[in-house]
Amino acid sequence: MLVTPGTPQVCTGLARNASVKVYVRTRPMLGGEEHQGATNILAVSSQYKKVVVEDGTEKKFTFDDVFEEHCSQDEVYMRAVEPLVTKVEENENATVFAYGQTGSGKTFTMGTSPCFAQDKNPSATQGDLTNTARSLTISIMEVYNETVYDLLAPSRIPLKTKAGPGGAVSVVGVQEEIVNSVEEGLLLLKKGSHLRSVGATAGNQHSSRSHAIIYLILKLVDLAGAEGVGRTQMSGRQFTEGVNINKGLLALSKVLAALSNPTAGYVPYRESVLTRLLKDSLGGNSHTAMIACVSPANFNVHETIKTLHYAEQARNIRTKPQILS
Ligand code: ADP
Ligand code: MG
Repeated sequence: MLVTPGTPQVCTGLARNASVKVYVRTRPMLGGEEHQGATNILAVSSQYKKVVVEDGTEKKFTFDDVFEEHCSQDEVYMRAVEPLVTKVEENENATVFAYGQTGSGKTFTMGTSPCFAQDKNPSATQGDLTNTARSLTISIMEVYNETVYDLLAPSRIPLKTKAGPGGAVSVVGVQEEIVNSVEEGLLLLKKGSHLRSVGATAGNQHSSRSHAIIYLILKLVDLAGAEGVGRTQMSGRQFTEGVNINKGLLALSKVLAALSNPTAGYVPYRESVLTRLLKDSLGGNSHTAMIACVSPANFNVHETIKTLHYAEQARNIRTKPQILS
């Protein structure tokens, strides 16, 4: 997904009406799952914005919107992302992030799959950016084993982060590429996606092992999957990755829990690199869309219910507007 141009936000000014909207996207059954005799345990109602899990008892979850398995990328963009583009054009910040178990469709949804350039449908993204008064820059980085790497830099050097006034965390020396057309933007996205660390797990052959963060004027965040360390056979390197992925996601869930609890004073942003980088996206100066991705297969029912619970909870988040210097 690429967005129309606007003014890059450097965390200045007072955010108005900051909000978190929570969406669920269900993907189709994959060939491999069908082959293993998986059955579909999800019923999705776009009209009532509900997802129902049928695993003996019926469990109903309600969201701001839901996308059933045949929803196109364009439709997800129009319903979940386009409203944020409008906010960015009004000089406010916006973040989109995808959450869900490995193989649930996060990378597919965020367009950060290496095959993205072949399967994209760019009708929502067309346009020449050179004639607009605003400029668009892109940075693409990944958080891998608690370290930030620049995916547009010629060599793979770890980057340092620093906390600015107001607590927003920035990455020092990350490359910012100016983008003049949608094609240029897609080329950069493809370049960054290729360099992303990809390893194979039993859960998903092309499981992304890192959290990718793309700063446009909108931030798009493609989280790594919630890995069951110990559940699958992992090499030493994969084990370390799994622990670190869990560390980022555990910290993220604690931050979301604190933000959705009006009596919790302290928000533990500092517990992982991921939450430090996302602080300004979740703490109150940003409009955030969280897209929870789920698999329809009965094998995944526990992870699916966990994801839906977590996402429904996130609807309680009331971002706290704050003045940033
Ligand atoms: P994740 O990033 O959550 O681990 P992926 O995005 O890599 O998962 O998706 C896993 C597989 O499912 C991929 O083969 C992908 O092409 C397919 N897939 C995911 N979402 C969809 C969708 N909405 N429609 C069709 N195929 C999908
Ligand atoms: Mg992925």
